[in-house]
Amino acid sequence: MTARAGVVVVGGGQAGHSVVSALRGAGHDGPVTVLADERHLPYQRPPLSKKAHTDPDGIQVALVPESFYRERDIELRLGDRVAALDTAAQAVVTESGTRVPYDHLVLATGARNRALPVPGADVPGVHALRSLDDAVAIGKALGTAGNVVVVGGGFIGLELAQVAAAVGAQVTVVELAGRLLSRAVSPQLQEHLRQRHERGGVRILTGTAVRAIEGTGRVERVVTDREVLTADLVVYGIGAAPRDELAREAGLAVDDGVIVDEQLCSITDARISAVGDCARHPHPHAAGLVRLESVQNATDQGTLVGRRIAGSPAPYRSLPWFWSDQGAVKLQIAGLRTDTDEVLVVPGDSPERLAAYSFRAGRLVAVETLNWPAEHLAARRLLERTAPVFRSDLTGSTLGALARARRSVEVRT
Ligand code: ADP
Repeated sequence: MTARAGVVVVGGGQAGHSVVSALRGAGHDGPVTVLADERHLPYQRPPLSKKAHTDPDGIQVALVPESFYRERDIELRLGDRVAALDTAAQAVVTESGTRVPYDHLVLATGARNRALPVPGADVPGVHALRSLDDAVAIGKALGTAGNVVVVGGGFIGLELAQVAAAVGAQVTVVELAGRLLSRAVSPQLQEHLRQRHERGGVRILTGTAVRAIEGTGRVERVVTDREVLTADLVVYGIGAAPRDELAREAGLAVDDGVIVDEQLCSITDARISAVGDCARHPHPHAAGLVRLESVQNATDQGTLVGRRIAGSPAPYRSLPWFWSDQGAVKLQIAGLRTDTDEVLVVPGDSPERLAAYSFRAGRLVAVETLNWPAEHLAARRLLERTAPVFRSDLTGSTLGALARARRSVEVRT
């Protein structure tokens, strides 16, 4: 093919979409191509684990209509996976054999689910959730499921547990670690959330290993190291790994993600950027390099790279934030909780509201809130400022500690 080289984005998720949207938004008028292996228009993933059950045939999650790309002259090639990068020739090669030349390449390939490493994980009725097709399949299965076993007590597992409970299924969560949400949430909130899930009728088995999944033609039971659980649907969410193999095979620096600099350029090849779940990057809120799996990170990194290619470079500094809707509980996290050494829990003005402030060496680094969006937004504003907030700014575990801290920061700056 004789296509003119331009910007080529591999991956049609939130990050890839944000790159091309920002590129055109900043006035870039060269050729732009998005290569995506899925056949759907770029879509939002968060709703898939939160409300897939409500109408599995009619989930409306597309980020923009198809006309968005047509009107902006963005070539969107769906259903053709990129098989290799030819960095010497500056081209990508797809599985269908097409070569697409690039001036600048953006890897926005996302992450893939960790597979459940037990016999029987491929029995019909066992599902992981990542794609829209997965969500539709789970939504349909939930329509007839009486006993649902959820493997993994992280964000995805607990969101799906609540979705299953809401349609009347008996739900058991099997978590290998001693606690729920051990990767991302403070111990104080882990325990609180466990109680909320149990009060809502979800059974939780922590410190429990799945040994096998069994059934003739379809799943019937989950064998754990404690007991055998009856199941007609198993869903698992046990973490994800970056899709960084194209970069690795092309010789780029990769270590659990494509390693990029603060501009999100590959440290090996400045004509290649990586954004979203597949990128490992420096961040002012982290001690070393981090890889973040969140909508905020995908959107902000995609936008930053789109603007950079269009001529306005900037280092990546966006405050990380996350959310998870688990039934009636909205958990929101501002900042990064890694290496924190103190947590201050502050009750809200109603029993379902709570905030937890995490500190590293006395400095506020993250705020988790339950059902308290206003406090979350206040925390984001606070953590986005360059002036640090210290433990001593928060005078006691009382409602409004954050407001007082904010005032004291304003006085200091
Ligand atoms: P996800 O985005 O898939 O929810 P998280 O990292 O938030 O990813 O949560 C994954 C959870 O799965 C963690 O709590 C982890 O301890 C748990 N886990 C990992 N492997 C297993 C396993 N084999 N069985 C049960 N739980 C597991």
